[in-house]
Amino acid sequence: MFKKILIANRGEIAVRIIRACRELGVRCAAVYSTADRTSLHAQIADEAVCIGPPATKDSYLNMNAVIQAAVNVGAEAIHPGFGFLSENAEFARLCEKNGIVFIGPSYKSIEMLGDKAAAKETMAAAGVPVIPGSKGAVRSIAEAKEIAEKCGYPVLVKASAGGGGRGIRRVDSPEELEPQIIAAQQEALSFFGDDTVYIEKFLVNPHHVEIQIMADKKGNVIYLGERDCSMQRRNQKILEECPSPIVSPELRKKMGMAAVTAAKECGYYNAGTIEFLVDANRDFYFMEMNTRIQVEHPITEEVTGFDLVKAQIEVAADLPLRITQEDVRLTGHAIECRINAENPKLNFRPSPGTINALYVPGGPGIRIDGAVYQGYTITPYYDSMISKLIVHGSDRDEAIRKMRWALSEFIVDGVDTNIDFQLEIIKQPEFIGGDYDNGFLTRYMEAKK
Ligand code: ADP
Ligand code: ADP
Ligand code: MG
Repeated sequence: MFKKILIANRGEIAVRIIRACRELGVRCAAVYSTADRTSLHAQIADEAVCIGPPATKDSYLNMNAVIQAAVNVGAEAIHPGFGFLSENAEFARLCEKNGIVFIGPSYKSIEMLGDKAAAKETMAAAGVPVIPGSKGAVRSIAEAKEIAEKCGYPVLVKASAGGGGRGIRRVDSPEELEPQIIAAQQEALSFFGDDTVYIEKFLVNPHHVEIQIMADKKGNVIYLGERDCSMQRRNQKILEECPSPIVSPELRKKMGMAAVTAAKECGYYNAGTIEFLVDANRDFYFMEMNTRIQVEHPITEEVTGFDLVKAQIEVAADLPLRITQEDVRLTGHAIECRINAENPKLNFRPSPGTINALYVPGGPGIRIDGAVYQGYTITPYYDSMISKLIVHGSDRDEAIRKMRWALSEFIVDGVDTNIDFQLEIIKQPEFIGGDYDNGFLTRYMEAKK
């Protein structure tokens, strides 16, 4: 096992990784920007290194500063968390070059799967069902027109390098195709520095169901059930649950095996998530693979009892997986609500400021993965997610009841949050009924206007 790890992230995921290090008896070093001097991760790590000014490109995205910090503190490995450098193949390669273990897959896997258009081709070739669309990237408007005709409108134009719901445009008719391609290319270029786009058939009201996999460097790959992330706003996840209310044991097994095939196809190791869309017939289609730990990983941990972050570190240290597929059992039901400092009434405008009072819920089956404390000042520089509220019940109804009362107990004073909005969502009959698709939240909010 490593003696010391550097955590190249901030916020709740950095805190989550610190906790895993503590359990493993590994020392941990945090990095922070000048805006994050008082942030929880910088306070509670064994040591903390300032890596630059607030702007992410000068601090958390500054590869050389992060590597230098790791070298200076004598860390043998770097955990990238999610976002920031976590899916940056160049960074993973740079770690290797400097003799530091990147806690994640090989840079080759990241490169291969980070190109979403190419990844679909790889998966299709391995026999994994993919969403119909262009074979790889589209090169011209004429080619795009032809593919869109073949798929039938509506279609989506998607950025090959995309993530976080960005660079995705819906096209309803041939006239809109060219302007939307240009718009998607511009967005992709500004966010990801790459204007490659591909085309996909727009599936009507699908469900977002993703499979968590974990693989060691000895060729063992297991799947740890699914997460339903259909509760989305602007293609971004708001609330997730495990297991998915629409997935039968048979479908779970089929999707799990497809996910394992996908991972094996690219010699994958460490934690990964294969995202699928499931249609009304319960047919499933590969959408993308995320080569990192995900925001919503705790619900899988609650239902499987398997610590994904600890496993990430162990696998990176060349240890074999502690469990086999036969050991994976799903027990009960877990739900996660992302708690953001934002104002739902003002179009979800971020709400930085000082937290004057904070009370977090507790009790059996209630877990908070957070990064804020009373007196902490949320700065405007980073993501507005301040905490994740996770509940685990013996069944879905119990989990929903726990979530309802946990949200009601949660007090954050001084900044606006989406706590009441989450409470509103979990009271909706469609959510309680368990058959809500990716478009549910958008339709609900439109109807409320
Ligand atoms: P997906 O896995 O579908 O991309 P996620 O919500 O897990 O959806 O993540 C979206 C993207 O934004 C990912 O690149 C993730 O790493 C990043 N991200 C999401 N939430 C945060 C956050 N609170 N802080 C930093 N990065 C984030
Ligand atoms: P990102 O890399 O930004 O996470 P994804 O490809 O995972 O992008 O898509 C994000 C979300 O957009 C999905 O969860 C889904 O709600 C919606 N979406 C993506 N592709 C399609 C599609 N072909 N049809 C319908 N909805 C889609
Ligand atoms: Mg995605």
